[in-house]
Amino acid sequence: MPDRTRFLGRTLAVAGAAVVALATAVPAAAATAPPTVDQDVAQLYQDVVDLYNGLPASALRGVDPLINSPIPRPGPRFKAAQDPIPGCTEGSLLTYANKLAAQLTPLENKAFAALSGLSQLYVQGVASDKSPQVFGTDGQYSSRATATIDKLRGFWDIESWNIQLVAWKGTDLGSQVKMAQTFSLGLAPAKVKGAAALATKVLYEVPALQGGRHPLLTLNAFSAPADSLGGKRVALGDGLLDTVNLLGFDDVSVESVVGHEYGHQVDFAHNNYPPNESSEMGPDAYGGYFVAHAKGFAWDARTQQEVTYLDASIGDCFHSHGTPDQRKAAGAWGEKQATSQGNPNRVIPSATMIDKFQKEYPKLMPPATDQSGAATLASAHS
Ligand SMILES: [Zn+2]
Repeated sequence: MPDRTRFLGRTLAVAGAAVVALATAVPAAAATAPPTVDQDVAQLYQDVVDLYNGLPASALRGVDPLINSPIPRPGPRFKAAQDPIPGCTEGSLLTYANKLAAQLTPLENKAFAALSGLSQLYVQGVASDKSPQVFGTDGQYSSRATATIDKLRGFWDIESWNIQLVAWKGTDLGSQVKMAQTFSLGLAPAKVKGAAALATKVLYEVPALQGGRHPLLTLNAFSAPADSLGGKRVALGDGLLDTVNLLGFDDVSVESVVGHEYGHQVDFAHNNYPPNESSEMGPDAYGGYFVAHAKGFAWDARTQQEVTYLDASIGDCFHSHGTPDQRKAAGAWGEKQATSQGNPNRVIPSATMIDKFQKEYPKLMPPATDQSGAATLASAHS
Protein backbone atom coordinates (compact mmCIF):
# COMPACT_ATOMS: atom_id res chain seq x y z
CA MET A 1 0.00 0.00 0.00
CA PRO A 2 1.76 3.19 -1.12
CA ASP A 3 0.31 5.29 1.70
CA ARG A 4 1.68 3.04 4.40
CA THR A 5 5.17 3.14 2.92
CA ARG A 6 4.97 6.89 2.88
CA PHE A 7 4.03 7.07 6.59
CA LEU A 8 6.78 4.71 7.59
CA GLY A 9 9.25 6.73 5.56
CA ARG A 10 8.08 9.96 7.17
CA THR A 11 8.16 8.44 10.64
CA LEU A 12 11.68 7.14 10.16
CA ALA A 13 12.86 10.47 8.74
CA VAL A 14 11.53 12.31 11.76
CA ALA A 15 13.04 9.80 14.18
CA GLY A 16 16.36 10.33 12.45
CA ALA A 17 16.01 14.10 12.69
CA ALA A 18 15.21 13.80 16.40
CA VAL A 19 18.40 11.84 16.99
CA VAL A 20 20.45 14.49 15.19
CA ALA A 21 18.75 17.28 17.16
CA LEU A 22 19.48 15.42 20.38
CA ALA A 23 23.13 14.95 19.53
CA THR A 24 23.71 18.60 18.64
CA ALA A 25 21.66 20.25 21.39
CA VAL A 26 23.19 18.56 24.42
CA PRO A 27 25.75 20.94 26.05
CA ALA A 28 23.86 23.68 27.96
CA ALA A 29 20.78 22.77 29.99
CA ALA A 30 20.18 19.20 28.77
CA ALA A 31 20.82 17.58 32.15
CA THR A 32 17.87 19.24 33.87
CA ALA A 33 15.52 19.99 30.94
CA PRO A 34 12.35 17.86 30.97
CA PRO A 35 11.99 15.52 27.98
CA THR A 36 10.19 16.93 24.97
CA VAL A 37 7.06 15.34 23.56
CA ASP A 38 9.18 13.98 20.70
CA GLN A 39 11.51 12.31 23.17
CA ASP A 40 8.61 10.89 25.18
CA VAL A 41 7.01 9.41 22.08
CA ALA A 42 10.32 7.98 20.85
CA GLN A 43 10.98 6.38 24.24
CA LEU A 44 7.45 4.97 24.50
CA TYR A 45 7.70 3.54 20.98
CA GLN A 46 10.97 1.83 21.92
CA ASP A 47 9.40 0.45 25.13
CA VAL A 48 6.54 -1.03 23.09
CA VAL A 49 8.97 -2.52 20.54
CA ASP A 50 10.92 -4.08 23.43
CA LEU A 51 7.66 -5.39 24.90
CA TYR A 52 6.70 -7.07 21.62
CA ASN A 53 10.19 -8.53 21.28
CA GLY A 54 9.94 -9.95 24.80
CA LEU A 55 6.68 -11.84 24.23
CA PRO A 56 6.62 -15.65 24.07
CA ALA A 57 6.96 -16.98 20.53
CA SER A 58 3.35 -18.18 20.34
CA ALA A 59 1.85 -14.97 21.79
CA LEU A 60 0.52 -13.57 18.52
CA ARG A 61 0.31 -16.74 16.42
CA GLY A 62 -3.01 -17.16 14.64
CA VAL A 63 -4.22 -13.71 15.70
CA ASP A 64 -5.35 -11.94 12.56
CA PRO A 65 -7.19 -8.62 12.86
CA LEU A 66 -10.37 -7.78 10.97
CA ILE A 67 -8.56 -5.19 8.84
CA ASN A 68 -4.93 -4.39 8.11
CA SER A 69 -4.74 -1.17 10.08
CA PRO A 70 -3.16 1.89 8.43
CA ILE A 71 -1.41 2.34 11.78
CA PRO A 72 1.52 -0.11 11.65
CA ARG A 73 1.94 -2.09 14.86
CA PRO A 74 5.40 -2.34 16.38
CA GLY A 75 6.90 -5.80 16.42
CA PRO A 76 7.12 -8.47 13.73
CA ARG A 77 5.41 -7.99 10.37
CA PHE A 78 3.35 -10.91 9.17
CA LYS A 79 2.59 -9.92 5.60
CA ALA A 80 4.98 -8.92 2.89
CA ALA A 81 4.06 -5.84 0.89
CA GLN A 82 2.62 -6.56 -2.54
CA ASP A 83 1.01 -4.65 -5.35
CA PRO A 84 -2.77 -4.12 -5.24
CA ILE A 85 -5.05 -6.30 -7.40
CA PRO A 86 -5.65 -4.37 -10.66
CA GLY A 87 -9.16 -2.94 -11.01
CA CYS A 88 -10.00 -3.47 -7.33
CA THR A 89 -11.28 -0.65 -5.10
CA GLU A 90 -10.85 -1.18 -1.38
CA GLY A 91 -13.90 -1.12 0.89
CA SER A 92 -15.36 2.05 2.38
CA LEU A 93 -14.21 1.29 5.91
CA LEU A 94 -10.60 0.90 4.78
CA THR A 95 -10.83 4.09 2.73
CA TYR A 96 -12.10 5.91 5.81
CA ALA A 97 -9.38 4.49 8.06
CA ASN A 98 -6.66 5.45 5.58
CA LYS A 99 -8.07 8.97 5.39
CA LEU A 100 -7.92 9.31 9.18
CA ALA A 101 -4.34 8.06 9.21
CA ALA A 102 -3.33 10.49 6.45
CA GLN A 103 -4.28 13.41 8.73
CA LEU A 104 -1.68 12.45 11.35
CA THR A 105 1.73 14.09 11.61
CA PRO A 106 4.74 11.73 11.80
CA LEU A 107 4.95 12.33 15.57
CA GLU A 108 1.26 11.53 15.99
CA ASN A 109 1.61 8.49 13.75
CA LYS A 110 4.35 7.13 15.98
CA ALA A 111 2.36 7.79 19.15
CA PHE A 112 -0.66 6.02 17.59
CA ALA A 113 1.45 3.03 16.56
CA ALA A 114 2.90 2.66 20.06
CA LEU A 115 -0.39 3.08 21.92
CA SER A 116 -2.52 1.07 19.50
CA GLY A 117 -0.04 -1.80 19.76
CA LEU A 118 -0.05 -1.47 23.53
CA SER A 119 -3.83 -1.47 23.80
CA GLN A 120 -4.01 -4.55 21.58
CA LEU A 121 -1.69 -6.41 23.93
CA TYR A 122 -3.75 -5.28 26.93
CA VAL A 123 -6.95 -6.66 25.46
CA GLN A 124 -5.23 -9.81 24.25
CA GLY A 125 -3.12 -10.66 27.28
CA VAL A 126 -4.54 -8.92 30.35
CA ALA A 127 -8.24 -8.10 29.94
CA SER A 128 -10.73 -10.70 31.10
CA ASP A 129 -14.48 -11.04 30.81
CA LYS A 130 -14.60 -12.01 34.50
CA SER A 131 -15.08 -8.29 35.07
CA PRO A 132 -18.05 -6.70 33.28
CA GLN A 133 -17.08 -5.56 29.79
CA VAL A 134 -18.21 -2.18 28.47
CA PHE A 135 -18.67 -2.15 24.68
CA GLY A 136 -18.73 1.19 22.86
CA THR A 137 -17.27 4.45 24.10
CA ASP A 138 -20.28 5.03 26.35
CA GLY A 139 -21.28 1.41 26.87
CA GLN A 140 -24.02 1.74 24.26
CA TYR A 141 -23.20 -1.65 22.69
CA SER A 142 -22.79 -3.74 25.86
CA SER A 143 -26.17 -5.45 25.81
CA ARG A 144 -25.96 -6.30 22.09
CA ALA A 145 -22.47 -7.73 22.56
CA THR A 146 -23.55 -9.90 25.47
CA ALA A 147 -26.63 -11.14 23.60
CA THR A 148 -24.51 -11.98 20.56
CA ILE A 149 -21.84 -14.02 22.33
CA ASP A 150 -24.53 -15.87 24.33
CA LYS A 151 -26.32 -16.82 21.13
CA LEU A 152 -23.12 -17.84 19.36
CA ARG A 153 -22.04 -20.11 22.22
CA GLY A 154 -25.27 -22.04 21.80
CA PHE A 155 -25.27 -21.94 18.00
CA TRP A 156 -22.03 -23.62 16.92
CA ASP A 157 -21.07 -27.09 18.15
CA ILE A 158 -17.59 -26.14 19.40
CA GLU A 159 -16.26 -25.83 22.96
CA SER A 160 -17.50 -22.36 23.79
CA TRP A 161 -17.57 -21.73 27.56
CA ASN A 162 -13.93 -20.62 27.53
CA ILE A 163 -14.16 -18.23 24.57
CA GLN A 164 -14.06 -14.76 26.11
CA LEU A 165 -15.57 -11.66 24.54
CA VAL A 166 -13.55 -8.64 25.62
CA ALA A 167 -13.90 -4.90 24.95
CA TRP A 168 -10.96 -3.18 23.24
CA LYS A 169 -10.94 0.35 24.61
CA GLY A 170 -8.43 3.14 23.99
CA THR A 171 -9.40 4.63 27.35
CA ASP A 172 -7.75 1.66 29.11
CA LEU A 173 -4.47 3.32 28.08
CA GLY A 174 -5.11 5.92 30.80
CA SER A 175 -4.74 3.34 33.58
CA GLN A 176 -1.19 2.97 34.89
CA VAL A 177 -2.18 -0.28 36.62
CA LYS A 178 -3.46 -1.81 33.36
CA MET A 179 -0.46 -0.57 31.39
CA ALA A 180 1.96 -1.98 34.00
CA GLN A 181 0.19 -5.35 33.67
CA THR A 182 0.59 -5.09 29.91
CA PHE A 183 4.27 -4.17 29.92
CA SER A 184 4.86 -7.02 32.39
CA LEU A 185 3.98 -9.43 29.56
CA GLY A 186 7.38 -8.91 27.96
CA LEU A 187 9.35 -5.90 29.20
CA ALA A 188 12.24 -6.18 31.70
CA PRO A 189 10.65 -5.86 35.21
CA ALA A 190 12.80 -2.86 36.18
CA LYS A 191 11.41 -0.87 33.23
CA VAL A 192 7.71 -1.70 33.67
CA LYS A 193 6.67 1.08 36.05
CA GLY A 194 8.40 3.84 34.08
CA ALA A 195 6.99 2.60 30.78
CA ALA A 196 3.45 2.46 32.18
CA ALA A 197 3.75 6.02 33.51
CA LEU A 198 5.08 7.18 30.14
CA ALA A 199 2.16 5.55 28.28
CA THR A 200 -0.40 7.46 30.33
CA LYS A 201 1.68 10.63 29.99
CA VAL A 202 1.83 10.43 26.18
CA LEU A 203 -1.90 9.68 26.00
CA TYR A 204 -2.64 13.24 27.11
CA GLU A 205 0.52 14.87 25.81
CA VAL A 206 -0.44 14.28 22.15
CA PRO A 207 -3.87 15.92 21.75
CA ALA A 208 -4.70 13.96 18.58
CA LEU A 209 -5.03 10.79 20.69
CA GLN A 210 -8.08 12.34 22.37
CA GLY A 211 -7.22 10.60 25.61
CA GLY A 212 -7.73 7.22 23.95
CA ARG A 213 -10.97 8.11 22.20
CA HIS A 214 -9.58 8.59 18.69
CA PRO A 215 -11.14 5.77 16.66
CA LEU A 216 -7.89 4.74 14.95
CA LEU A 217 -6.49 3.44 18.25
CA THR A 218 -9.06 0.64 18.35
CA LEU A 219 -10.43 0.54 14.80
CA ASN A 220 -10.32 -3.25 14.62
CA ALA A 221 -11.45 -6.58 16.05
CA PHE A 222 -9.69 -9.92 16.31
CA SER A 223 -10.00 -13.51 17.36
CA ALA A 224 -7.25 -15.35 19.24
CA PRO A 225 -6.70 -19.13 19.52
CA ALA A 226 -6.17 -21.19 22.68
CA ASP A 227 -2.37 -21.20 22.65
CA SER A 228 -1.97 -17.43 22.11
CA LEU A 229 -1.16 -14.88 24.82
CA GLY A 230 -4.42 -14.74 26.80
CA GLY A 231 -6.13 -17.82 25.39
CA LYS A 232 -9.32 -18.07 23.33
CA ARG A 233 -11.00 -14.73 22.93
CA VAL A 234 -12.77 -12.30 20.64
CA ALA A 235 -11.86 -8.62 21.00
CA LEU A 236 -14.17 -5.88 19.74
CA GLY A 237 -12.77 -2.35 19.35
CA ASP A 238 -14.71 0.77 20.29
CA GLY A 239 -13.14 2.61 17.34
CA LEU A 240 -14.47 -0.03 14.96
CA LEU A 241 -18.01 0.26 16.35
CA ASP A 242 -17.90 4.08 16.13
CA THR A 243 -16.66 3.91 12.53
CA VAL A 244 -19.16 1.28 11.40
CA ASN A 245 -21.87 3.49 12.86
CA LEU A 246 -20.55 6.47 10.90
CA LEU A 247 -20.57 4.47 7.67
CA GLY A 248 -24.22 3.54 8.15
CA PHE A 249 -24.11 -0.10 9.27
CA ASP A 250 -24.92 0.43 12.93
CA ASP A 251 -27.96 -1.89 12.85
CA VAL A 252 -25.75 -4.90 12.26
CA SER A 253 -22.29 -3.91 13.54
CA VAL A 254 -21.88 -5.87 16.77
CA GLU A 255 -23.68 -9.01 15.58
CA SER A 256 -21.86 -9.19 12.24
CA VAL A 257 -18.39 -8.49 13.56
CA VAL A 258 -18.66 -10.79 16.58
CA GLY A 259 -20.30 -13.42 14.32
CA HIS A 260 -17.29 -13.16 11.98
CA GLU A 261 -14.69 -13.28 14.75
CA TYR A 262 -16.44 -16.23 16.38
CA GLY A 263 -16.23 -17.86 12.94
CA HIS A 264 -12.45 -17.85 13.39
CA GLN A 265 -13.01 -19.80 16.62
CA VAL A 266 -14.96 -22.35 14.56
CA ASP A 267 -11.94 -22.69 12.27
CA PHE A 268 -9.53 -22.84 15.24
CA ALA A 269 -11.59 -25.63 16.82
CA HIS A 270 -11.17 -27.71 13.65
CA ASN A 271 -7.55 -26.72 12.99
CA ASN A 272 -8.69 -25.15 9.75
CA TYR A 273 -6.01 -22.62 8.77
CA PRO A 274 -6.31 -22.24 4.99
CA PRO A 275 -3.38 -20.33 3.46
CA ASN A 276 -5.54 -18.06 1.30
CA GLU A 277 -8.40 -15.55 1.49
CA SER A 278 -10.81 -18.30 2.53
CA SER A 279 -9.37 -17.92 6.03
CA GLU A 280 -11.24 -14.58 6.16
CA MET A 281 -14.08 -15.29 3.76
CA GLY A 282 -14.99 -18.48 5.65
CA PRO A 283 -15.81 -16.54 8.84
CA ASP A 284 -17.80 -14.07 6.68
CA ALA A 285 -19.85 -17.04 5.46
CA TYR A 286 -20.30 -18.61 8.92
CA GLY A 287 -21.29 -15.17 10.25
CA GLY A 288 -23.85 -14.76 7.47
CA TYR A 289 -25.28 -18.19 8.25
CA PHE A 290 -25.56 -17.25 11.92
CA VAL A 291 -27.33 -13.89 11.54
CA ALA A 292 -29.81 -15.22 8.96
CA HIS A 293 -30.55 -18.51 10.74
CA ALA A 294 -33.75 -19.05 12.75
CA LYS A 295 -31.64 -20.13 15.75
CA GLY A 296 -29.30 -17.15 15.25
CA PHE A 297 -30.73 -13.66 14.79
CA ALA A 298 -33.22 -14.67 12.07
CA TRP A 299 -32.62 -11.37 10.32
CA ASP A 300 -34.82 -10.51 7.33
CA ALA A 301 -33.66 -10.06 3.74
CA ARG A 302 -33.13 -6.32 4.13
CA THR A 303 -30.91 -6.72 7.19
CA GLN A 304 -29.02 -9.61 5.58
CA GLN A 305 -28.28 -7.28 2.68
CA GLU A 306 -26.86 -4.69 5.09
CA VAL A 307 -24.54 -7.34 6.54
CA THR A 308 -23.12 -8.17 3.11
CA TYR A 309 -22.37 -4.48 2.48
CA LEU A 310 -20.58 -4.31 5.81
CA ASP A 311 -18.58 -7.38 4.71
CA ALA A 312 -17.69 -5.53 1.49
CA SER A 313 -16.63 -2.38 3.38
CA ILE A 314 -13.70 -4.23 4.96
CA GLY A 315 -12.52 -5.90 1.74
CA ASP A 316 -9.02 -5.00 0.57
CA CYS A 317 -7.12 -5.31 -2.71
CA PHE A 318 -4.04 -7.21 -1.55
CA HIS A 319 -4.91 -10.92 -1.61
CA SER A 320 -5.06 -10.55 2.13
CA HIS A 321 -8.58 -10.65 3.58
CA GLY A 322 -10.58 -10.86 0.34
CA THR A 323 -11.73 -8.08 -2.00
CA PRO A 324 -15.00 -6.23 -1.30
CA ASP A 325 -16.80 -8.34 -3.93
CA GLN A 326 -15.42 -11.61 -2.56
CA ARG A 327 -16.32 -10.82 1.03
CA LYS A 328 -19.81 -9.73 0.02
CA ALA A 329 -20.26 -12.96 -1.92
CA ALA A 330 -19.03 -15.06 1.01
CA GLY A 331 -21.43 -13.41 3.46
CA ALA A 332 -24.36 -13.73 1.05
CA TRP A 333 -23.55 -17.41 0.44
CA GLY A 334 -23.65 -18.07 4.20
CA GLU A 335 -26.99 -16.28 4.56
CA LYS A 336 -28.42 -18.32 1.68
CA GLN A 337 -27.42 -21.58 3.38
CA ALA A 338 -29.63 -20.56 6.31
CA THR A 339 -32.63 -19.32 4.35
CA SER A 340 -32.69 -22.14 1.80
CA GLN A 341 -32.36 -25.19 4.02
CA GLY A 342 -35.36 -27.52 4.41
CA ASN A 343 -35.64 -27.39 8.19
CA PRO A 344 -35.01 -23.78 9.25
CA ASN A 345 -34.22 -24.81 12.83
CA ARG A 346 -31.45 -27.27 12.00
CA VAL A 347 -27.93 -25.96 12.52
CA ILE A 348 -25.35 -27.59 10.24
CA PRO A 349 -22.43 -29.12 12.19
CA SER A 350 -19.48 -26.73 12.08
CA ALA A 351 -17.22 -29.30 10.40
CA THR A 352 -19.79 -29.71 7.61
CA MET A 353 -20.05 -25.95 7.20
CA ILE A 354 -16.28 -25.66 6.82
CA ASP A 355 -16.30 -28.40 4.13
CA LYS A 356 -19.20 -26.79 2.28
CA PHE A 357 -17.49 -23.44 2.25
CA GLN A 358 -14.15 -24.83 1.12
CA LYS A 359 -15.99 -26.40 -1.86
CA GLU A 360 -17.75 -23.13 -2.63
CA TYR A 361 -14.75 -20.87 -2.13
CA PRO A 362 -13.14 -21.30 -5.60
CA LYS A 363 -16.42 -20.13 -7.18
CA LEU A 364 -16.35 -16.97 -5.04
CA MET A 365 -12.97 -15.95 -6.46
CA PRO A 366 -13.82 -14.13 -9.72
CA PRO A 367 -11.55 -15.80 -12.33
CA ALA A 368 -10.33 -12.58 -13.99
CA THR A 369 -9.30 -11.03 -10.69
CA ASP A 370 -7.70 -14.26 -9.56
CA GLN A 371 -5.58 -14.58 -12.69
CA SER A 372 -4.36 -11.00 -12.70
CA GLY A 373 -3.71 -11.31 -8.97
CA ALA A 374 -1.68 -14.46 -9.53
CA ALA A 375 0.29 -12.72 -12.26
CA THR A 376 0.95 -9.79 -9.91
CA LEU A 377 2.10 -12.15 -7.18
CA ALA A 378 4.38 -14.05 -9.54
CA SER A 379 6.02 -10.88 -10.83
CA ALA A 380 6.39 -9.53 -7.30
CA HIS A 381 8.34 -12.59 -6.24
CA SER A 382 10.43 -13.05 -9.34
ZN1 LIG B 1 -11.33 -12.20 10.37
